[in-house]
Amino acid sequence: MPELPEVESLRRILAREVVGRRVVSAAVNEARLRRAVAPDLAARIAGCAIVRISRRAKYLLIEMHGDSVLMVHLGMSGSLTCRRNGAAASGLDPRHDHVSFTLDDGSLLVYNDPRRFGLMKLLSRAELDSIAELAAIGPEPFGSAFSADYLWRVTRGRVGAIKNLLMDQRIVAGVGNIYASEILFRAGVRPTRRAGRVTRAELGRIAAITPQVLREAIGSGGTTFRSYRDARGQPGRFVERLRVYDRAGQPCLVCATPIRAVVVGQRSSFFCPRCQK
Ligand SMILES: [Zn+2]
Repeated sequence: MPELPEVESLRRILAREVVGRRVVSAAVNEARLRRAVAPDLAARIAGCAIVRISRRAKYLLIEMHGDSVLMVHLGMSGSLTCRRNGAAASGLDPRHDHVSFTLDDGSLLVYNDPRRFGLMKLLSRAELDSIAELAAIGPEPFGSAFSADYLWRVTRGRVGAIKNLLMDQRIVAGVGNIYASEILFRAGVRPTRRAGRVTRAELGRIAAITPQVLREAIGSGGTTFRSYRDARGQPGRFVERLRVYDRAGQPCLVCATPIRAVVVGQRSSFFCPRCQK
């Protein structure tokens, strides 16, 4: 599933490739995503110029000249690729090209999503400010609001596992399963620890390490498992730098103890029983 680093990597690529371009026309081949694409989306977006691409949590916000914003969530398996000269994107099945935008330089911006859990909505800026999906999201992990003090406040009295709390989008935006495992390994905290029992010093490490891990992942184009592809149809390379995720039974890179897998909140979690307390 694309997580924050994949979405941010995609945002940066698309910002270079499509900002300044005008949408000439759009075609919706399959409207049945997680929620149906509005029947008038194609007509409303035709003629709009793309002025900026921003991101909030895992939502891409393609801002148009004037008042509209195309909000895109990649769901479990979605991708947006910019294709030139009719070239197909590598690794993507064209049967899952659900929405495509023809741009004024002749390139195609294509939304492909085999599992169709994604979301695509054209909103006004005012609607964007009040939309429930965005209003409930916690601070971005790169801002000063995400700090040891903040984590201390939101974890006291919490009996749930620290890993579930880190993955709760209301607590912090965009930390998914892979990165939560990696962050907790580097912070030396077991994923199963009760959030309310994690010490101030450990929370300080988590607050510092979270943006580091995510930045590293963004620099590597994200992590690819299965169907994720970035805007050029390339897989992410952070998978080569994973220290615990998906490494059950393999030696810890720090102490050589076999990495263990445990299920936390119905998701597979990986940790070193020696390095993580
Ligand atoms: Zn270890």
